[in-house]
Amino acid sequence: MTYRIVTIDGPAGAGKTTVSKQLAATLGCVYVDTGALYRGVAYEIDRQKIDWQDEAELNRFLESLDLGFKMTGQDLALVSSGKDITSFIRTPEITMLASATSALPAVRQALLGIQKHIAATRDAVFEGRDMGTAVFPDAPFKFFLFADLGVRARRRHDELGTNDAELEKVQAQMAKRDKDDESRKTNPLKPAPDAVSIDSTHMTVDQVVTKMQDIIEKA
Ligand code: C5P
Repeated sequence: MTYRIVTIDGPAGAGKTTVSKQLAATLGCVYVDTGALYRGVAYEIDRQKIDWQDEAELNRFLESLDLGFKMTGQDLALVSSGKDITSFIRTPEITMLASATSALPAVRQALLGIQKHIAATRDAVFEGRDMGTAVFPDAPFKFFLFADLGVRARRRHDELGTNDAELEKVQAQMAKRDKDDESRKTNPLKPAPDAVSIDSTHMTVDQVVTKMQDIIEKA
């Protein structure tokens, strides 16, 4: 049996998470935040003080890695070796380390099985950077969500509740992360040739979700 897979890729702060969650709820399926997996790897690398530039050490670490999702209704918890680490993976340090280590082919390979397994067992909305291009190239519904950098930084800034002086820093980190994600050799951030691109700069979450839902339901 083939399940209905929707992919939503795009740069940081484009609204992917909010949109993906809402779309999944509308379609009555699960929502999978694949960025959380890359963040989980970074969290464990940091916690275990792994020298990730040492290939043998990285491979040993990846073999011992036991990451997965625990799904409770619409909410998704990231679990590492039985421990819920969801609340530890959103710090600025882990964010930047996740971006750096996600460029490593061995890391991407290690996380592929988890993502494929979910897609083989249920309908799902997958959010990430390479969902439509590399992980699920045959998905029937692919979207690429983007927005102006200034608007994305402002949204993230409001989300984090940081003060105005931090806005510039948030924007600079976001720009660096996008550039690194777009320029890496393995599975860079880019729209799949058959993805529908949506510019959310001047759109509300509801408008974006309605547009996606229309495309899915008309098919
Ligand atoms: O989506 P989020 O911002 O949480 O992702 C954190 C980082 O994980 C991204 O900056 C990107 O480098 C990496 N990532 C990735 N491929 C994905 C999802 C996230 O490389 N499918």
